[in-house]
Formats: sequence, structure tokens, C-alpha cells
Amino acid sequence: MTEKYDLHCHSTASDGSLSPTEVIERAQQQGVTSLALTDHDTINGQAEAAEAARKNNINFIPGIEISTTWENKCFHIVGLNIDPENQALVSNISKLQELRTERAKKIAHKLEKRRVPNAYEAVVKMAKGGMITRAHFANFLLENNYVTTNQQAFDRYLGKGKTAFVSTVWADLDETVGWINQAGGTAVVAHPLRYKLTASWMRRFLSAFKEVGGQGIEVITGRSSAEEIRRSLTFANQYQLSASVGSDFHTPANPWVELGRLAPLPENIQPVWELF
Ligand code: AMP
Ligand code: MN
Ligand code: MN
Ligand code: MN
Repeated sequence: MTEKYDLHCHSTASDGSLSPTEVIERAQQQGVTSLALTDHDTINGQAEAAEAARKNNINFIPGIEISTTWENKCFHIVGLNIDPENQALVSNISKLQELRTERAKKIAHKLEKRRVPNAYEAVVKMAKGGMITRAHFANFLLENNYVTTNQQAFDRYLGKGKTAFVSTVWADLDETVGWINQAGGTAVVAHPLRYKLTASWMRRFLSAFKEVGGQGIEVITGRSSAEEIRRSLTFANQYQLSASVGSDFHTPANPWVELGRLAPLPENIQPVWELF
């Protein structure tokens, strides 16, 4: 059987629409053989996913996507093959979970001033106890016809510098990578091209990431073009980072991104799973 890895996706533990069990079942249907569930700042879906993976004969890799601030910019660092029962990790991410709740209240307050009432109650309900992210607010704005597309919700309200944007100081880069490494995991830069960094900022960022113990970078994501793969591969080679592949799947409602639907990893690079 050919191996198919997908090392980045979300469940209802954060802003995904499927439960951890449903994510595993869908991955199985899509021919994924090894899956990491990487919810935003939480490991709450891990136990359920691990159990479902056993039943569905999927090699489950415990994971997380940690919100990180470096030089006033927000980055997402994926932790793979972590011990989800590592007590230091569990207690450190609880600060990020509190930050998410506080931020959600502030976003709702800003929306209220823009004549969009009741957002906080709505996103709390939508998140069903999972981490609240801007994706929930985007859904709320869409469902209530304040915007016509998800992108418009970010362009008008939620994106950096927009009317309901709340700037948040997440974990430091050295903290994030340290927590992941101490939990036995491998730290990976998520979707490196989404930060829109200039070449010189990218060099500084990747040097800093290496310096604090980062080991991987996503070379293939759910919507990578050939040109994007080439650029990410260049970063991986320049900084001697291992290559990860992850769809960043959130929901079957997005037809552009599917679990396991990923371009093949180029052969001249070390896959991140060889480090596990
Ligand atoms: P947060 O971590 O709360 O800032 O929310 C980030 C989440 O919002 C991401 O994981 C995506 O699910 C979603 N998101 C962020 N930016 C965009 C965007 N420009 N368009 C669509 N979804 C986005
Ligand atoms: Mn998300
Ligand atoms: Mn992300
Ligand atoms: Mn993600």
C-alpha cells in the first residue's frame, strides 16, 4: 500500500467542522495512511482521534498548531509527534487558551461598535467548547449576511488592521519551539508563504526558528502551486529544515482543500517523518 501523509488539519477542538472521529474516518476514506490532527492551541481532540485512528487502521501522529508572535508578527508553528500528555505543554498552552477567550470578547466588542451585535454568544455556541478562532467570527458574519464570502469577512472586519482586528501577543518563538521539543515533538513552520514576508524577513525568521530548535517547514500544503512548492523547497534546503506535508483541512464545505489531497513531496529533501 502506498503511504499517504497528511500532517496538518483541524477538528471541532478548534475551528474545524468535523469531530476528531469524523476527521479520521474521512482521512481513511481519502486514502490517508498517517495523519496528524493539529488544532489551534489545544490537544483536546487528540485522545478521541487516536482512538478512532486505532479502529480505522491509521497511523496517528499527535499534533498541535501553536499561535506564536515573533517581531510583532503572528506565525503558526505546528508541533508533530508530541506527547499530548506532557504536563508542561498542557499547562503552557492554557495561557494561549485564555488569550483566545479574551481576544474573542474584544473582537465581539469591536464588531458591536460596527453595528454587528451578539457575536460573542454566537461564536461560543458555534465553537462548542473548542478554541474560538477568527474562522468562527467569519462564519458568524457570513451566516448573518454581514458579508457574502469568508474572505470578505477578513478583508472588511477580521484581517490585520481591519475594523474588528485585535492585535494579540501569542507565545514567543523560543517558548513555542521549546514546549514542542520538550514534549518530544518536532517543530514545523506552518504554511510559510502565507505570512507574506519579504525575502529578508523570511531569512531572519527562519534563522531565528533554527536557532531555537525548529526542525521542519511545510513544503506542501493543501493549495500549493508548483511555484510555491519550489519556493518552500528552497527555504527548506537553505536552512536544512525537513519537509512536511499538510492540507490544513478545516471543513468538507471548502471544496478546494481535502484531507490527503496533496502534491507529492520532491525527492531531494528529507521528509519530516524520518525524524519521528
Ligand atoms: P486565528 O488563529 O484566531 O487568528 O484564526 C486563524 C484562522 O482563521 C485560520 O486558521 C484560518 O482557519 C482562518 N483564516 C485566517 N485568515 C484567513 C483568511 N484570510 N481567509 C480565510 N480564512 C482565514
Ligand atoms: Mn484555522
Ligand atoms: Mn495556520
Ligand atoms: Mn491550520
